[in-house]
Amino acid sequence: MTDDKLNQSFADLGLIPTLVERLTELEYTKPTPIQSHTIPVVLEGRDLIGGANTGSGKTAAFSLPILQKICQQDKQRSRHGNIVSHLVLVPTRELASQVAYNIKSYSYHLRHEIKTTSVFGGVSVNPQMQALRGGSDIVVATPGRLLDLVSSNAIKLNQVQTLVLDEADRMLSLGFTEELNKILALLPEQKQTLLFSATFPEKVASLAENLLNDPVEVQLQSAESSTLVQRVFSVNKGQKTAVLAHLIKENQWRQALIFVNAKNACNHLAQKLSKRGIAAEVFHGDKGQGARTRVLEGFKSGEIQVLIATDIAARGLDIEKLPVVINFDLPRSPADYMHRIGRSGRAGEVGLGLSLIDYDDYHHFKVIEKKNKLRLEREQVAGFEVEDDQNEAYFAPMKPRAKPAGTGKKKKKRLQ
Ligand code: AMP
Repeated sequence: MTDDKLNQSFADLGLIPTLVERLTELEYTKPTPIQSHTIPVVLEGRDLIGGANTGSGKTAAFSLPILQKICQQDKQRSRHGNIVSHLVLVPTRELASQVAYNIKSYSYHLRHEIKTTSVFGGVSVNPQMQALRGGSDIVVATPGRLLDLVSSNAIKLNQVQTLVLDEADRMLSLGFTEELNKILALLPEQKQTLLFSATFPEKVASLAENLLNDPVEVQLQSAESSTLVQRVFSVNKGQKTAVLAHLIKENQWRQALIFVNAKNACNHLAQKLSKRGIAAEVFHGDKGQGARTRVLEGFKSGEIQVLIATDIAARGLDIEKLPVVINFDLPRSPADYMHRIGRSGRAGEVGLGLSLIDYDDYHHFKVIEKKNKLRLEREQVAGFEVEDDQNEAYFAPMKPRAKPAGTGKKKKKRLQ
């Protein structure tokens, strides 16, 4: 990024004073890199591909220009019937309510009331149908529930002016391809399309190619992830829980988000940690919406310090300045690894993405590294050193990484 862009203010990006004023109130002192690059492009009306990790500030990057567009059209604007003018598609219900919440917050001072509606599955459809009556300026939706609402005539998509696909990689990896295609077929040809994705697997690249018209590409992954420290600890099989408990106690993290791969594993781990004197809450798909909201609020307020979650449930969690994310189980896909660790070090904060790997995880972690173009040093936790030589033997063929001056290679390292 050029120095010019780094020094730009929100006003320099072309945002109207009422929006800038609101951002000042929210203590957004300066635009994040994705915002600096994206906002002028979207204001210009161009299609956009934005490569940005979760937590980079991309919600504001797409929603501020949309709000400005609505304000500038205000005289011609007519909200009626069940029409929606700007559609934001997201992969999960948590993300839907969070994005809608942020948009409502950004529109707080706008002279004319802007109606933002969020629709997502897992809760009763009737209040959402009612909310859609009379039309909406912005609808934030998960694909399945949106299609249900289309088929019961609760919403019309044929006048959509802006389409945002948020976390497109996640949407496709969660199996929403068919729903997405059905939705795209209902949208008008003429529209502005903004696609955001943390990763660009084949499926996302071909979706972008078919959907976008001469898009501007903004890729900021490397700049964003520089605020994130990634560490990997080798542990003996069967010692992960003990190591995890030790790390939590020793480091006294203000909060920690721990990922496991199954709902049952969430509960088991919470019980095991509790026996070691660590109170943890769980967040997974078997929890009702009410319970999820309560846990999320508790975690946000800091009341809950340790949260154990599955990928699907944790997607879209908006927790500011999360100090550490821990992979207790490795994620299945390399893309999920990036998504998980993206929960820490948000919006310029330094965060820690930590993975615990035992012998069975070694190979899989190598694949994760390779796909994400990473090479991380395996560290050991003092007091829990890996007993067998398999660890050393396994990594022996790896070429040593270039080390910054003054940091001698140590086999065993204490977690700072
Ligand atoms: P997002 O990537 O959109 O989920 O945003 C991540 C977090 O950063 C949210 O809590 C936002 O409120 C916050 N945020 C977004 N933009 C800024 C900014 N320019 N300055 C400070 N915080 C921001």
